[in-house]
Amino acid sequence: MATTDDSRRDALQLAQQTDQLVRVSGHQPLRAAVRWITRGRYGHRHGWPVIPEINAPWQDTGSPERDGWRMRAANLHGDRAFAVDYVTCKRCGLGWVEMPHTSPEYQRCGLAAAGLAALRTEHPGLSWHTLGGHFRDSIPFWTSVGTGVPGGYQQQATCSHISNF
Ligand SMILES: [Zn+2]
Repeated sequence: MATTDDSRRDALQLAQQTDQLVRVSGHQPLRAAVRWITRGRYGHRHGWPVIPEINAPWQDTGSPERDGWRMRAANLHGDRAFAVDYVTCKRCGLGWVEMPHTSPEYQRCGLAAAGLAALRTEHPGLSWHTLGGHFRDSIPFWTSVGTGVPGGYQQQATCSHISNF
């Protein structure tokens, strides 16, 4: 069984591997979510490509929560170590991230900061925001990851081109 030190070491390493990304262009986010939850036993249909999300350090799929949004996630030891929903609008030059979540055992290993940085690198020139406000205990996190970032992950409603649901 992995010790806490092993888990942290692996999570720190994972934070350096954001380029090891498998992208699934999904128009069926719910199906992808079903596949994830059941480890691929269900959610399969003829012609649906095998989703290698279990084995990829990082993955990019449709968001199971929000229509038209994407979900960036990191996987460790067969579990989801980190996930965040995001969406971008090139026309407005804006990006949003929502509900970043790191599993408790992998927190403070830089996964969230690395995931957000990867999204900024992949979408240069955008101002980044969040949809919701920041809980008091998450303010230090947002201050840390938002320093020097256009938009600073300040709360802002989505533009008319983006669905919130
Ligand atoms: Zn827009």
